[in-house]
Amino acid sequence: MGEAIRMNTIQMIDDYEQHIGKEAVRRIKAKARPLRDLHIIHVNSTYYGGGVSQILASLTLLMNGLGIQTGWRVVHGPPDFFSVTKKFHNALQGAEINMTDRKKEIYEQVIYENAVRNHLDHDMVFIHDPQPLPLITHYRKKVPWVWRCHLDLSAPNREVWDYLVPFIEKYDAVIFSCKEYRQKIKKPQIFFMPAIDPFSIVNQDLPESAIDERLEHYGIPTDLPLVVQISRFDRWKDPLGVIQAFQKARKEVPCTLVLVGNVATDDPEGGAVYKSLLSYRNERIIILSVQDGALVNALQRRAAVVLQKSIREGFGLTVSEAMWKGAAVIGGNVGGISHQIQDGKSGFLVSSVDEAAERIVQLLRDPDLRARLGEAARERVRECFLFTRTVEQYLDLIGSFEPEFRLKEMEGSSCE
Ligand code: UDP
Repeated sequence: MGEAIRMNTIQMIDDYEQHIGKEAVRRIKAKARPLRDLHIIHVNSTYYGGGVSQILASLTLLMNGLGIQTGWRVVHGPPDFFSVTKKFHNALQGAEINMTDRKKEIYEQVIYENAVRNHLDHDMVFIHDPQPLPLITHYRKKVPWVWRCHLDLSAPNREVWDYLVPFIEKYDAVIFSCKEYRQKIKKPQIFFMPAIDPFSIVNQDLPESAIDERLEHYGIPTDLPLVVQISRFDRWKDPLGVIQAFQKARKEVPCTLVLVGNVATDDPEGGAVYKSLLSYRNERIIILSVQDGALVNALQRRAAVVLQKSIREGFGLTVSEAMWKGAAVIGGNVGGISHQIQDGKSGFLVSSVDEAAERIVQLLRDPDLRARLGEAARERVRECFLFTRTVEQYLDLIGSFEPEFRLKEMEGSSCE
């Protein structure tokens, strides 16, 4: 006989019992049972980088573990396409745009090509974010289609929004992350806040030795307290504001800033944002562009303070990720961040560079405060932002479609 074959495993719903209890696991299994063998597809625009790919990586596996055949496809396109869709993304979060017919042509043509090469004959289709949105126009619709938008839609550019509405209104329902993103559209709007998977590489338990190893690997000094922000290199995450806040805080308390980011394949602006920061690098300002989930995990655990100083944020998984690890988190008081952090209780919310600097100084000087906020933060995530809640909401939604794709009343989340 040859060597034993190593059996690979995936996380199953029972594994979550330690975090959510027996009753919640039982309830999720009961909701999944009548949906077994349904064939469901999720479509987005990147396999890695960004929160949507993190969510889909865990969601699709766990759903398969529950017996629902759940697939994940990614739309393909040339750089021109992603340049246009990133401009739409920015405009939907409130930026100006020069909306031309050429942009619309590139967008619609590439999505048509994707429709030709993808054969979506599933029992239900979930389309994530604006990039693949027009796919629906190219199928004879026989099943429910849902558009799941992860962006901060608190102040969308009207020109882009109005252009997208005819596509959006072809869907049977739309999911937004927070109630304040509600729009005037003719279709049902549902609100699911995202959540984090405690077993992902970014969140799983990490021994101190592994944390040390990751930090050492990247030459991150640990002689002074670490102030950390982890985000795609995107101006909505305000990396410059983070550097400015750090520079002010450092005049009061010695510390080191670590800015770690990655660049998603559907975000052509990331490289330029990263380069624009490099002149600020010095021995106390470390800026790294890497894709390393274990490094993210290690930094969130070792940091004295975690920042997520966004100026727009659909949800901001990095906030819950850090809170889950008991970190003291300072977040921009915007979008989904303000739903995660209860100001002064499970972290701090800030609206300016000066406020961020003050909170960094306060936290660095007060380890008891850091511990208190961190403990409350972990509980907050356990109650509201663990992944199984998202799974349950998807199960509720899938089970809520009646004939003709009408949607039954659904319960809202209790953590709003
Ligand atoms: N992330 C990562 N490496 C990085 C930066 C981010 O793995 O260098 C992960 C991060 O841990 C989180 C996701 O990417 O899981 C970002 O999601 P979030 O909702 O915070 O922001 P988005 O990028 O979707 O705007």
